[in-house]
Amino acid sequence: MDLIHHRPPVAPRSGGQAVTDPVYLSPPDVGELEESYLLRAVRTGRFDPDGPELGAFEREVAARVGVGYALGLSSGTAALHMALLAVGAGPDSVVVVPTLTFAATANAVTYTGAEPVFVDCDAATGNLDVDLLSDLLGRLADAGRRVAAVLVVDINGRCADYDRLLPLCAATGVPVVEDAAQALGSTYRGRCAGTFGRVGIYSFSHNKIMTTSAGGMLVSDDDALVARARHLATQAREPVTHYEHRDIGYNYRLSTLLAALGRAQLSRLDTMIARRRALRDRYARLFAAVPGTRILGAGDPGSNCWLTAVVVEPERSGWHAGDLAAHLARLGVESRPMWKPMHRQPVYADRQVALTGAADQLFATSLSLPSGSALTDDQVDRVVGGIAGFLGGHR
Ligand SMILES: *Cc1c(COP(=O)(O)O)cnc(C)c1O
Repeated sequence: MDLIHHRPPVAPRSGGQAVTDPVYLSPPDVGELEESYLLRAVRTGRFDPDGPELGAFEREVAARVGVGYALGLSSGTAALHMALLAVGAGPDSVVVVPTLTFAATANAVTYTGAEPVFVDCDAATGNLDVDLLSDLLGRLADAGRRVAAVLVVDINGRCADYDRLLPLCAATGVPVVEDAAQALGSTYRGRCAGTFGRVGIYSFSHNKIMTTSAGGMLVSDDDALVARARHLATQAREPVTHYEHRDIGYNYRLSTLLAALGRAQLSRLDTMIARRRALRDRYARLFAAVPGTRILGAGDPGSNCWLTAVVVEPERSGWHAGDLAAHLARLGVESRPMWKPMHRQPVYADRQVALTGAADQLFATSLSLPSGSALTDDQVDRVVGGIAGFLGGHR
């Protein structure tokens, strides 16, 4: 099941009272500024991808993250698909994918005809386990498999362990594709998420750090790679007037109107990140003295804190993550476990895997808490008060 992207029903009643103000995990943070940008874009009368908004949005994102080229696409999933094709993923190749991720990461691999091979995560951060990756790349090489890419995900906005990952992948000659769908605005050693691999992607889905309702972007310093992705994403139409096609193309460009929405959101990105970080700090203080609990990936000043998840060891805490979830649901507050790992998904059940059990453990013990920058102070107080009430009853 898609564990982040749909709103599960929050309990409609609490103490016999209808909850009129449900609190969601990561609602869109969109207001008058976005309205004015969108209206201005409509009034230009330009609705084609060559209109002024899309090119401007691409240049602004590229400048923001410090990369040479950016390509606006209809979703993060489309961006992943284009990135993977651009690095040569296809039938007769494999792509290494973390098992703890949203299904889009693995699905994009499958679209290319390549085979996803799943690798477990580091328990402290939820990011790809580099030791396991090292073993796996060795085994794949011994088996004569062509590894088209290692697809790395920056979970909940925390960058993966690039100090170790990049040399490993460079030594084996495998390109890194960075799924920074959740990590726009995050940094690692001063460098922006999305820029660590040959190519990276962002998502502007409705619940991401910034949104265009639906949208995504591909970024790279490789001019030819981005040009190839742009070509494939624009129906692979050759630059002649008579509609010549030498490749199977896709209709994947971002709407220029949505690019205008993105420009407004990008101008507010730092403010939105600051709000999410403040929320994480508040949760960290709340759980600091609670035995058997920790904040996933805590202590990373570069994270954009897209979602904050608490991890609960029931043997030490005396309660389960699910108990807190049920309590919050009664208060009209949404929370949910991290994604069910890909190797547990019926559709990917028979794939090759390299596992330690860490992703299964996180799935069983984690709970993502309301983390959106659009949450009002009152809503945050309600969530924090609800958790404090729960904890008080479980001392
Ligand atoms: C959101 C997300 C995607 C997909 O992005 P869409 O814009 O929804 O297509 C891919 N990977 C990860 C890790 C995501 O969180």
